[in-house]
Amino acid sequence: MTGGPEPLMSMRLRVEQDIFVVRQLGREVARAVGLETQDQTRMATALSEVGRVLLAGGQDADVAFTVVPYGVPTLQVSMAHPAPGEAGRLAEQLQQVGRLVDTMEVDDGGSGTVVRMARRLPPGAPPLTPARMDEIRTGLAQHVPGSPLDELAVQNQQLIAALDEVRAQRDDLARLNAELEETNRGVMALYHQLSEELEETNRGVVALYAELDEKSVQLRAASEAKSRFLANVSHELRAPVTAIIGLGRLLTDSGSDDLTEEQDRQVGLIRTSATDLLTLVNGLLDLAKAEAGRIEPNWSDVDLRAMFGQLRGTLRPLATRPEVDFIVEEPAVPGIRSDEVLLAQVLRNLLTNALKFTEDGSVRLSVRSTGGDVEFVVADTGTGIPPELHERIFEEFYQVPGSKPVSGRGTGLGLPYARRLAGILGGGLRVDSEPGSGSTFTLQLPAVS
Ligand code: ADP
Repeated sequence: MTGGPEPLMSMRLRVEQDIFVVRQLGREVARAVGLETQDQTRMATALSEVGRVLLAGGQDADVAFTVVPYGVPTLQVSMAHPAPGEAGRLAEQLQQVGRLVDTMEVDDGGSGTVVRMARRLPPGAPPLTPARMDEIRTGLAQHVPGSPLDELAVQNQQLIAALDEVRAQRDDLARLNAELEETNRGVMALYHQLSEELEETNRGVVALYAELDEKSVQLRAASEAKSRFLANVSHELRAPVTAIIGLGRLLTDSGSDDLTEEQDRQVGLIRTSATDLLTLVNGLLDLAKAEAGRIEPNWSDVDLRAMFGQLRGTLRPLATRPEVDFIVEEPAVPGIRSDEVLLAQVLRNLLTNALKFTEDGSVRLSVRSTGGDVEFVVADTGTGIPPELHERIFEEFYQVPGSKPVSGRGTGLGLPYARRLAGILGGGLRVDSEPGSGSTFTLQLPAVS
């Protein structure tokens, strides 16, 4: 070895016993430079094998141990004997040995045959500083080789340790396999369970949907039946009620025979009741028609100024209380595309209610435009409605318990009808109200229908 690092140790193999020595030395060197126990044994075994094969050629052999401390630190061993032309034989005989080290090469130089082996040191090996190398050199120089018997004992121990390790590894492997199988079984069971549950859930969802479909068909049928019933009954009632009102009028007519005061009072009662009944029947008929989808809006450009004027005129007679200001503002929006009759009907219902439930203060109608919508606002300073009843007042026949109109009577059909009409006009109707601080009903319609 020229030009490379200085050898840690060299020796010459002459006789068979030297093979044990080189084996021991190899293990010592391997240990000193930081190779792990198994690698120490591998290195020792490789050395004794190469030594045996070289000696068998009948020549002495020189052994040199060197460490390359830079790059990936490596332990290198060269074993050489002076007879050239032996490379072929050696390479063939040492095939197995090559597996014990990282690299092995056989050189057939002019001055003899060289076997070179190398083994990389593990990353955790202590750094090989020049001081450490000197220390190793001194240690090796003092090494006293043991007898072949000692070496045999060491080899036996190593063999037993290796066998133990192989057995332990085999046991570990068997245990791992068993665990893996167990886990696989578990995973499969879980998978089956999950897919069964999923299937079950899917079946449930499908059944639920079918039931929902069926229920909504039933509901639609029930709602249609109700509308039909209301329409028929109301229609049938209208004629006799109208007749009763007419007959009552005839009885109290100036052309009829005079009635006693009591009779006059009673006929008066019959006429009022019949008129109330007719209002109810008409209300029911309107609602049934709206619910049955039989109201087709008649779209036109509605002049809001004219409509507000008319509402002001027709409702003024209802605003009889001097304590209540009935204000119909000048419309801030000149017109809207809508159904004039239906729109006026909704506003009339809201204004009538406001006048009915306001003792003093004001009832105000205004209109404003918000984004793409037009909002009609009917605000009063009346009794107000508790928040939890804000939706209920839109149910048929619902009247706020204890709420008494200041004037007139009600049927509980005005708001449900107004909301229906708002929907037919493409908008909605909502309320903001607190008991004691009045109510604000807002009819929201699209600016362009
Ligand atoms: P009604 O014919 O009784 O007025 P509606 O459907 O128009 O029927 O109204 C339902 C109920 O909602 C009324 O009976 C009343 O209790 C309440 N309500 C409606 N509008 C107002 C309002 N402006 N102020 C206070 N309460 C109202």
